[in-house]
Amino acid sequence: MKVLIIEDEIKFARILAQGLKEHGINTESAFDGPSGLEKALSRVFDAIVLDVMLPGKNGFEVLKELRASGSNAAVLMLTARGSVEDRIHGLNLGADDYLPKPFVFKELLARLQAITRRPQVEPQTVLKVADLELDPRTREVRRAGQAIDLSIKEFVLLEFLLRRKGTVVTLAMILDHVWNMDYSGGEDSNVVAVYINYLRKKVDKPFHSNLIQTIRGTGYMLREDA
Ligand code: CA
Repeated sequence: MKVLIIEDEIKFARILAQGLKEHGINTESAFDGPSGLEKALSRVFDAIVLDVMLPGKNGFEVLKELRASGSNAAVLMLTARGSVEDRIHGLNLGADDYLPKPFVFKELLARLQAITRRPQVEPQTVLKVADLELDPRTREVRRAGQAIDLSIKEFVLLEFLLRRKGTVVTLAMILDHVWNMDYSGGEDSNVVAVYINYLRKKVDKPFHSNLIQTIRGTGYMLREDA
């Protein structure tokens, strides 16, 4: 599990990171709103611990932009104790849970575990864009009713693009999720391009319609052929 901590009290953020590390959870930290949002959008996190009071952009603004960009990372908001408005506002904007400050570390850990477990108990449905269908349970892929044979990496890559259909998926996000690699520029992006090409040959070319779009200088997007 990988968690992003967006909290401007640096000492407090460090204590949280250390505590999570002791429970086998990797973290990254950001200390203001804009850099937190940038980090949240450039990598895949299982959960984000998001403080409400942040410089630059507050937690609500970060959350709003995060959801608008298609991120479905679990978000735990740190609110001021007793502020009912904060809690309701956060949940309305798509936070998964909130935790009033101050809190004991155990409670943060329990809530993080609860919100990251949630997606797995939800029934998985068939993912679709246009006439392309992918079933995460049976690992079957079909386009226009025809079965398509994919390698494991191709399948994981296509599923990742499908879960974020209509939004731009960056090279860094793909490398992180599909290959579990950090993006260092240059060479790394080749492997993504190669696999996108494999996918296009199987998913797009035989059907004479391109669902996998290249977003120049950024990454890729899966969407209906315009
Ligand atoms: Ca704060």
